[in-house]
Amino acid sequence: MKRIFLLILAAAVSEAAEPNWPQLEKSALDLLQRYLRIASINPPGDTTAAADLLQGALESHGFQVRRFTAAPGYVNLLTRLPGRDRSRKPLLLMNHMDVVPVDRAAWKMDPFGAVIQDGYVWGRGALDMKGIGIQQILSLIALKEAGVVPARDIVLLITADEEMNGTYGIRWMIANHWKEIDAEYVLDEGGFGTREILAQGKLVFGVMVGEKQSVWLRLRAKGTAAHGSQPIPDNANLILMRAIQRAMELPAAQPHPVVAEMRRNIAAPLAANKYTAAIQANTASLTTLQAGVGSPPKINVIPSNSEATLDCRLLPGVDHREFISELKKRINDPRVSVELASTPNDSGVSSSQTPLFEAIRAAIRKHHPEAVVTPMLVPHGTDSSNLRLKGMIAYGLTPMVLDLATAGTMHSDAERIPVAEFYKGLRIFFDVLKMEY
Ligand SMILES: [Zn+2]
Repeated sequence: MKRIFLLILAAAVSEAAEPNWPQLEKSALDLLQRYLRIASINPPGDTTAAADLLQGALESHGFQVRRFTAAPGYVNLLTRLPGRDRSRKPLLLMNHMDVVPVDRAAWKMDPFGAVIQDGYVWGRGALDMKGIGIQQILSLIALKEAGVVPARDIVLLITADEEMNGTYGIRWMIANHWKEIDAEYVLDEGGFGTREILAQGKLVFGVMVGEKQSVWLRLRAKGTAAHGSQPIPDNANLILMRAIQRAMELPAAQPHPVVAEMRRNIAAPLAANKYTAAIQANTASLTTLQAGVGSPPKINVIPSNSEATLDCRLLPGVDHREFISELKKRINDPRVSVELASTPNDSGVSSSQTPLFEAIRAAIRKHHPEAVVTPMLVPHGTDSSNLRLKGMIAYGLTPMVLDLATAGTMHSDAERIPVAEFYKGLRIFFDVLKMEY
């Protein structure tokens, strides 16, 4: 009898268990600042110091942390919080420790100072993705401290090398420690809350369910070398210019089902900007042009070779071989070669008809009752594609409302995270993790 009573009491406590929020927010902000002060720039991608900091924070709350060193300096961390139903495959929380380089001269703030000003924490990695990493870590700690046993095991994987394609991070973990990370669900970066980027004046949280494929193309034109004083039509630069123009006249793409679902959920016109344009179509950006003879290149020499690269991004489900063969047909010139310079990954789309997606929707709406929560595509690639290819249901969750200017500071010289949203995101993560999924 007493035993049963105690069990009921324990259940009631864990139902009601809430962290001491002001204290948790203070530790989260403090840890984020210390984390941002570690310049885990990739390349070279050394995550030793960052891993030491996070491992210490987790271990001080009783977590057993495993360290996987893929190559000297490339440290990955893994820990696990056991859940109620151990027969179900876990939920994998994933974040990365490395950040992209900085142009110090362009930064007004110290990029590794973690200065707090105007309601933001400033620094390289604040958005991509140390802020989200700390939200994941602290909400897991809070769950444990509050005695909440999650629905299933939660595995936390903190990786190196995301910004250089994951060779010594996620790809290495998949190849060498698959059993430790095998899960049904993944929560990674991607998506965001916004009042302007997806629909003007309407609060929309996009949860990433799929991403575009990177198809990088190198176009090379061959012509005849000649004296610049006597123009010829067989000029490699002219041949290349025509080819680029034709290559970039992309046919309209079939509307993608995820975008159609976004439209239905948002029930308002999608905002018109480069972001929404990119998730509705196959795209091509002309990124490099190279030609000329000599260094510096001679102005009076017509070169025999000319080269350009196109960064093409294809919607999930589009066959890149077909895309390339149609592009070649449009160019229709034997003097121009087209070479693929990336390994396209069509990882498809994760279903949003899952208990986890419903938990995410409920947790976001608890804190933002007016929000539309919708699955979305993102125009860039993430680590999740590797796991979606292995059959996991992978979502990108950034539980913060970002305005256009702030969202645009990722990888820029003014990267920052709004403190109030950082705190709110912590609560959203905590609520997601304690729900049924
Ligand atoms: Zn990232």
